Amino acid sequence: MAWNVLIAGGGFGGFYAAKTLAKVLPPHSARVRLVTEDNFMLYTPLLPGAAAGTLEPRHVVVPLREELDSSIHLRLAKITGATPHRNVIHVRSLDGTQEELRYDQLIVALGSVSRTLPIPGLAEHGKALKSLPEAIALRNHVVRTLEIAETLEDGDARREYLTYIFVGAGYAGLEGLAELQDFAADVIDLYPRCQVTGMRWILVEASGRVMPEIGQKLADFAVRELRARGIEIRTQTTLDEVTARSARLSDGEVVATRTLVWTAGVKPHPVVAQLGLPLDDRGRIDTDDRLQVKGFDNVWAIGDCAAVPDPARKGVPSPPTAQHAIRQGRVVGRNVANALGGGGRGRRFTYKTKGVFVDMGRRKAVATTGPITWSGTPAWLLARSYHLAMMPGAGRRARLLVDWNIGLLFGRDTAELGRLGEPRALEAPLAEVASAGANGTEDDASAGAPAGSASAAR
Ligand SMILES: Cc1cc2nc3c(=O)[nH]c(=O)nc-3n(C[C@H](O)[C@H](O)[C@H](O)COP(=O)(O)OP(=O)(O)OC[C@H]3O[C@@H](n4cnc5c(N)ncnc54)[C@H](O)[C@@H]3O)c2cc1C
Repeated sequence: MAWNVLIAGGGFGGFYAAKTLAKVLPPHSARVRLVTEDNFMLYTPLLPGAAAGTLEPRHVVVPLREELDSSIHLRLAKITGATPHRNVIHVRSLDGTQEELRYDQLIVALGSVSRTLPIPGLAEHGKALKSLPEAIALRNHVVRTLEIAETLEDGDARREYLTYIFVGAGYAGLEGLAELQDFAADVIDLYPRCQVTGMRWILVEASGRVMPEIGQKLADFAVRELRARGIEIRTQTTLDEVTARSARLSDGEVVATRTLVWTAGVKPHPVVAQLGLPLDDRGRIDTDDRLQVKGFDNVWAIGDCAAVPDPARKGVPSPPTAQHAIRQGRVVGRNVANALGGGGRGRRFTYKTKGVFVDMGRRKAVATTGPITWSGTPAWLLARSYHLAMMPGAGRRARLLVDWNIGLLFGRDTAELGRLGEPRALEAPLAEVASAGANGTEDDASAGAPAGSASAAR
């Protein structure tokens, strides 16, 4: 009888676990199912590039059916829980039916979500940069703020739309802000009034420094580079309150803004708490250094949702990075194959961070590769080469190259495709004209404008 191996989550960890199992399991010895919500893996390090319009959204994802061996069964479903003592997970299938899927070996790789804090107004007004829809929505929002600001007579009202705050200076915050600011600075020539007013970009960080993932010298370089572009960097500062039109910071300043992006860390996906597995104080699944969940000999956990001991720092879990999730995926694939073959629990996870790349747009980056540190254009070239090498599939790599080169030659476009994927109902245009006639309004762009700042004919 073939064994049932189930991988929960098709991100970095799950994808590499599946690839490894396809490689190392003897043919027909096991049925490997990858259960995940989307039929692609999101290559998150390139998400800021998609948010800034340098890369096509489709080009920062890896279609799982194309890239996985045909021996891996992909099953799209939402995992809703598990009963580990019966060896089943609970899923809601695409057609809405609730089902139980049985396993002999389970690998949990369900990733993380944005970690929010109980700050007044944050849940209602904060934006995230964690998923593809969020990245695209953020880009559309930035374009829309430019479009709205361009219609406003009042300079203060315009300034409010042209002020952008990011809270949290890790990968997502720093790269996201840098790429979006670069994009906005590139296209602002097309908005004469906005150009006169100018933009304000602020990066707020609670701790004393940006990017704890890189050394102090490189972090200082990144800060100098961003400040030279006019970006304000406020360390040891927290966000105290957000409204639709302002953000109050702990240094007392109330900044008038329509854009607050929350990039201050991650926490395990909430479904992880429904799996009946042991968790640490931060809600991550407790594993040993072979990635096996404590107290279960047939359950394994990897990636952002797991507290895997970090080989580089005693007593601390591995950081939530793609590079760790990838290596854990490879190790867990081998360990599960080993366990099925009766060979015990297999290898220890020993990976220590070898390098870090932080792309800051404008052909600038900072990077460390082993003992060597890089900054400026060489680091940027290195970062692009690294992602090119890491992106699975020759077709995907070719698409990245084309996007990057077109961007270098022709700049970026400012089309705001916010309605993409939400087509109007057949009769919607008729209804809109009727309701505009009744209300005396013309379009919904002016709906975001403050009262008293009437759109000017240009
Ligand atoms: C903007 C940004 C930039 C980043 N840049 C870098 C970088 O440059 N370098 C780096 O090393 N790391 C970077 N990271 C971190 C990196 O993305 C994560 O550490 C990595 O994705 C973790 O892999 P994972 O497999 O644990 O989770 P994920 O890759 O998030 O995968 C989780 C999977 O589980 C699926 N899933 C979740 N819940 C369910 C459910 N209920 N049912 C079914 N499926 C579910 C999801 O759809 C997803 O496929 C970045 C993150 C962000 C947000």
